[in-house]
Amino acid sequence: MEVLTEMQTMMYRKMLRHHVGHEIFCPTCKRIMDCTRAVSFDAYTNTDKLIKTWIRCAPCYDSIAANVAQCARDTGSRLVVSDGRVLFAQHAAVATPRKRSPKPEPLVPGTVYEVKHTSGIIRARFVCEVTRGRIGCNTARGTKRYLAINLATGRDIELKSRARFLAVL
Ligand SMILES: [Zn+2]
Repeated sequence: MEVLTEMQTMMYRKMLRHHVGHEIFCPTCKRIMDCTRAVSFDAYTNTDKLIKTWIRCAPCYDSIAANVAQCARDTGSRLVVSDGRVLFAQHAAVATPRKRSPKPEPLVPGTVYEVKHTSGIIRARFVCEVTRGRIGCNTARGTKRYLAINLATGRDIELKSRARFLAVL
């Protein structure tokens, strides 16, 4: 990462916090995310349109960084990497005791929530949690998913994280 001005650093930190706020767990290894150990990377087209944002914990990012960079080169897109280890380096040096994030309230089946969906912020009725098994994987741990009904379309939707349920309506 290039040397950043203080303003840029603040902006990138804010962006990274924003991304981490929406992904409680690393999508790859399911460890709890922490801004100081998370990396987000945004891919832009050559006309500066955001194509996609990824976020991973630092170890997972390190394992895919080369592939992502290659993919960006192949598709001619521009990557902007926000590395929490760099952005929050001063904070880490102060070594404040780590606060444990409070466990989110369990979702109540039948309740309508404001939900962050790929189509935007929608109203959805929570149905239940399901655990999806991972095929070809010998670990017993599955992936938790949240089923809900999109009230605008009447369709079933499946949310990846508890964090997507923003508020009770
Ligand atoms: Zn990870």
